[in-house]
Amino acid sequence: MRYQDELQAAAGAEGRISRRLLLAGSAAGLAGSAAGRPTRGALLAFQNDPFRLGVASGDPDQNSVVLWTRLAPRPLDADGGMDPGDVAVRWEIAEDEGLRRVVRSGTTTAAGSAGHTVHVEARGLRPDRWYWYRFRAGNAESPVGRTRTLPAPEAAVQQLRFAFASCQHFETGLYTAYRQMAADDLDLVCFLGDYIYEGPGSNRGIRRHVGPKLRTVEEYRVRYSQYREDPLLHGMHARCPWFVTWDDHEFENNYAADISERPEVDPAEFLKHRAAAYQAYYEMMPLRRSAIPRGPDMRLYRKASFGRLAEFLVLDTRQYRTDQPNGDRPSDLNEAALNRRNTLLGARQRRWLEESLAGSPATWNILAQQVMMALVDRDPSPERRYSMDQWPSAAAERMALLRFMEENRISNPVVLTGDIHTNWVNDLRVDDRKPEQSVVATEFVGTSISSGGNGTARPNNLDRLLADNPCVRFHNGERGYVRCTVSPESWRSDYVVVEDVLRPGGRVRTRASYVVEAGRPGAKPA
Ligand code: FE
Ligand code: CA
Repeated sequence: MRYQDELQAAAGAEGRISRRLLLAGSAAGLAGSAAGRPTRGALLAFQNDPFRLGVASGDPDQNSVVLWTRLAPRPLDADGGMDPGDVAVRWEIAEDEGLRRVVRSGTTTAAGSAGHTVHVEARGLRPDRWYWYRFRAGNAESPVGRTRTLPAPEAAVQQLRFAFASCQHFETGLYTAYRQMAADDLDLVCFLGDYIYEGPGSNRGIRRHVGPKLRTVEEYRVRYSQYREDPLLHGMHARCPWFVTWDDHEFENNYAADISERPEVDPAEFLKHRAAAYQAYYEMMPLRRSAIPRGPDMRLYRKASFGRLAEFLVLDTRQYRTDQPNGDRPSDLNEAALNRRNTLLGARQRRWLEESLAGSPATWNILAQQVMMALVDRDPSPERRYSMDQWPSAAAERMALLRFMEENRISNPVVLTGDIHTNWVNDLRVDDRKPEQSVVATEFVGTSISSGGNGTARPNNLDRLLADNPCVRFHNGERGYVRCTVSPESWRSDYVVVEDVLRPGGRVRTRASYVVEAGRPGAKPA
């Protein structure tokens, strides 16, 4: 199937889209102009479906969840095809797929100042159950999304199934992974960053970004909309709630707080651009009001309990970090890398993380975060070289965090990671260079959904890499995501790969599965 055909098939026939315009015929007459813009007033008449970006939900707790959509009849226009004014949007959430048993509903505002995005915190829901929701604006009705609340924090939960994913460069690969993920019957998804890439359109990929290198909030909105218009991506958002965090490409490659990788960039100017990037990120993600940015700042780190089974600690290792040492070039763990002032978390988030870990009653304590925590030397030369954009760049903070987990007997810490576009299973010790130390935690690193195009099942340097880095238990270079099945007794991670992301319908395989038994740190092949 051609990719365009696949998009069409996934979106449903044209007829289904136009049927969502409930009063399309008469409304078109009312709208008058041929511009496809809605008229305001009692009846808003869209000529084009304003719900082309689908619906999404996120950040559930035991009795509420965020419902999201955006009105954008022309998603690739700077204004989304909307007049600047605010639009009233109806929402409803029900206990059944047919939306007959509606339990909450209301009217909210799609504000022009927020790119006509909609964030509803639907409250008063029951713990640990599935719900279905949809929106209406004028004559248009959104697709139905499915979401769920979390079990009460004290509930004795027997199972959690979720996936984590990262890095979905639109130009370098298709989102075939989400077709499989949608069939996996998951409770939730964690997205660990690089949801978009900020670069200008390039002719080298299989699809092309609209627009220049992103700078303004309008440009960021168009980029997110181009990604989200992909039915495999918005289809997965409609399947279950997501917990999202960002990495660097939601703003700029390898940035650190207010410091650009290009030394000529003025930090004040850089923060103006960061404000635009963060604003668009908030607008386009199913996030709570507590995440609304203030200027260039946005509180994204947060936590969620899946009963007593699992505690999710979602981290932000970009906004508060210190500049990459050693000029951001791979380096030994020298004095600059070991400087105690280096941080990926910042003092406040670090304190919050340690307090949260110490106070958590959960069996599994999950750090959902961006960059690799294991100290892995990927350099083929005899010298030891570590990435200065990952945790080795704040080696003292990293070792202190692992030591904190060990000394406080934090229950089953598991670190989930994206960024690196390859799959890894790593044992984490206070110092990973010393295999005689005891294993404190397990790190599961998920590959990219599409970034980098097709990869390879067995990277060239695999044997040397495994010999040089005893903390690495598994490494693979294909595209895909990681599916996790968690019980009070064990954790299983399935490394799901897509063999070809350059053509539609790429074959999907589970390449490897690793298990951690509760109370016994260290991953083993399943
Ligand atoms: Fe990436
Ligand atoms: Ca990254």
